[in-house]
Amino acid sequence: MIPASFDYVRAVSVRDALNALAAGDGTKILAGGHSLLPMMRFRLAQPPRLVDVSDLAELRGVVEHRRGVRIGATTTYRDLLDSALLRERFPLVVECTESIGDLQVRNRGTVGGSLAHADPASDLPAVMLALDATFNLRSKRGKRSVRAREFFLGPFATALAEDEMLIDVLLPPTPRGAGTAYVSQDQAASGYSLAGAATVIARTRKTVSHAAVALTGVGDVSRLIGSTDQLVGTKGEPEVIGRAAAGSVEGIEITGDIHASAEYRRHLATVIVRRAIQKALERAH
Ligand SMILES: Cc1cc2nc3c(=O)[nH]c(=O)nc-3n(C[C@H](O)[C@H](O)[C@H](O)COP(=O)(O)OP(=O)(O)OC[C@H]3O[C@@H](n4cnc5c(N)ncnc54)[C@H](O)[C@@H]3O)c2cc1C
Repeated sequence: MIPASFDYVRAVSVRDALNALAAGDGTKILAGGHSLLPMMRFRLAQPPRLVDVSDLAELRGVVEHRRGVRIGATTTYRDLLDSALLRERFPLVVECTESIGDLQVRNRGTVGGSLAHADPASDLPAVMLALDATFNLRSKRGKRSVRAREFFLGPFATALAEDEMLIDVLLPPTPRGAGTAYVSQDQAASGYSLAGAATVIARTRKTVSHAAVALTGVGDVSRLIGSTDQLVGTKGEPEVIGRAAAGSVEGIEITGDIHASAEYRRHLATVIVRRAIQKALERAH
């Protein structure tokens, strides 16, 4: 389908983009366009004006920040894959990004677009939850920071207000010696996750001292799972991992659709979580 008509402006600065959003007329940010433009073509979204931020160099890139990293909102998946800093400090981000979409999607799709769109089957939100990222938001009214754990509110719903823009993402350092893993079963055509798990596990003298596992693709929103708390204080014995994985889907209303039934996804999620924990444990030192 052809989208409804709309105006287009290319922002030359963040301030420019924020001014456009402040008009309160339904103006939407356009970044890589891989989610917004299909929605407009299906007329699921009909914004009267798009403000294109994809050229804003000030929002693009991965840099060191207080022993962690800062990732600008217009950083593309390709930039993530090319970042030596991320490969060294946050291999979880790179491992996840490798499974996203196809070449075109990875070349144009942005971190800000993925997180703001909050598709319940997208990959990066789970990584941000497991890494305890913080998102910096800005509007003409001011700035605020929101932890990933408070940002994703539901399917395609986030803490962003209509006049707010995601500026960058801060990743704090992972615990010393932590092992991480992203394991997903992708829907073959798009690469979206039928179930995906992002895992960060640290050990102190062979005992698990930190475990964070976030799940995507199975319910209405990516979420941290509570059942993996029981790993802390154990040596990560197979039966403990099995129990944590089995409990990972408790309390989640599992999605069933043309790609996978709810029953299949439920089973898949427990297998994915178990494998992700095992992998992260093997990588922890
Ligand atoms: C064929 C195909 C396969 C895909 N496969 C995967 C996959 O395997 N895994 C996956 O996770 N995703 C997948 N995607 C989605 C892809 O990652 C999207 O591009 C991404 O989710 C959105 O990023 P974008 O830069 O294209 O955002 P856009 O489409 O430009 O914007 C998306 C939404 O975010 C808003 N927005 C963008 N930037 C900001 C900002 N800085 N602040 C506030 N709001 C903002 C826009 O207004 C819009 O509402 C796929 C997409 C396609 C088309």
